[in-house]
Amino acid sequence: MAASFASLHSGFLNSVLGLFLILLLARGLESAFQEGRPSGLFFFSFGLGLLTLADLLRLTLDPPAGSPFHFLWILGYALLTYRHPQDPATWEGPALALAGSLLAPTLLGLLDPPLFLLGSALYYSFLGGLGLLLTERTRFERAEDARLRWARALEKLARLSPRASQILSLESLLFNLLDAVREISPAEGLEVRSHQALVGQRTPYAVPIPLGSREEAYLYFSSPPRDSILNAFLTLVAGRLRQLLAQLDWANLALTDPLTELLNRRGLELQLPKLVALARRYAKPVSVAMLDLDHFKRVNDTYGHPVGDEVLRTMARTIQASLRTEDLAVRYGGEEFLLLLFNADLEEAKSVAERIRDQMRKTPVPPVPWPLTLSAGLAGGRVPKGVAELEEWVYQADFALLKAKEEGRDRVVVATEPPS
Ligand code: GH3
Ligand code: MG
Ligand code: MG
Repeated sequence: MAASFASLHSGFLNSVLGLFLILLLARGLESAFQEGRPSGLFFFSFGLGLLTLADLLRLTLDPPAGSPFHFLWILGYALLTYRHPQDPATWEGPALALAGSLLAPTLLGLLDPPLFLLGSALYYSFLGGLGLLLTERTRFERAEDARLRWARALEKLARLSPRASQILSLESLLFNLLDAVREISPAEGLEVRSHQALVGQRTPYAVPIPLGSREEAYLYFSSPPRDSILNAFLTLVAGRLRQLLAQLDWANLALTDPLTELLNRRGLELQLPKLVALARRYAKPVSVAMLDLDHFKRVNDTYGHPVGDEVLRTMARTIQASLRTEDLAVRYGGEEFLLLLFNADLEEAKSVAERIRDQMRKTPVPPVPWPLTLSAGLAGGRVPKGVAELEEWVYQADFALLKAKEEGRDRVVVATEPPS
């Protein structure tokens, strides 16, 4: 009878204490939901809820020992110790579960009624305190983790600036930007639609990056991102991306010719080492072609400079259409064009030059009534030993072009190998 009196009162006390602890923990639940992953605190509260429920049921039904309520207790304790897989593991959890589900009820059961009441009250308070400590620590660790991730993300954003070798490649910059974003949020892809650049992959969940201009950029996620800090971060990303796009635009302006949109000589200087490195790595030959329109001055003199400009644009388009992406096309002088043909020996280079010559002749530029012809000089056709050798080939191709002009224009001349 005394035991049932004690258990009745301890059940009541435990229920009150349990409810009190739940109220105490309720504030923490809010952040657990905001973070998108339930914290230990969430499960702790849920576990306490179960304990309280078990107590209340025991209080009202007064069942015999070893009843299913014991299972509720164990489940409650197990939940108390739950930690998110992303949180570091600790020894307190399993210890708490063991002590709570096995030792405490046994030890408390040995006590006489008044001590039993005091003991279980102390025990519940200890449990609540330990739970709070555990969950606070988890929260602290998470905050620390988030702080580090932000620091890394900000550092990556700050380091993001186009290196000379990346100037004409937005993708490699976007790749680094996506890497910075991934410190904060698990994005799958990043796209700048206005520049037709995509890194990673598109998913159905696109979040626009607020660039505030004509540019359109999106981040892609595998599920709708709930992270509230992502919005703040997106503003940062947008600012950085705007800067990068502007930098690239300026770099492109500095490295390309506005009339023909081909590389200018500065652009060539920048791209040449890359082409040589690529050719050497894959042991591919490179050919050099120097192209020059025949009697171009006549077009200017007869029909004016705007028509001359149109001829130059037509020439650039014709060249572009005949090249592959690895090749380089440069407006080398007024109406002189330099082509660097990757993986092309002299024979292939000759067929490319002939194709351009043929195409130009077939393309009328009104009001010019005569067919436009060009002369070309070719050199190289081997794997270049270095940038210096490629520059030597440019010189040789120029010399061959001169020969083509002397021989009567409208032809392709291959440079003769200088005796070595
Ligand atoms: P050749 O067959 O020997 O090459 O004769 P050409 O008349 O083509 O050669 P020349 O070097 O004497 O003339 C080149 C002309 O190209 C002179 C210049 O006015 C013109 N030119 C250079 N840059 C531009 C440009 O940007 N636009 C226009 N319309 N003309 C240009
Ligand atoms: Mg000319
Ligand atoms: Mg010329």
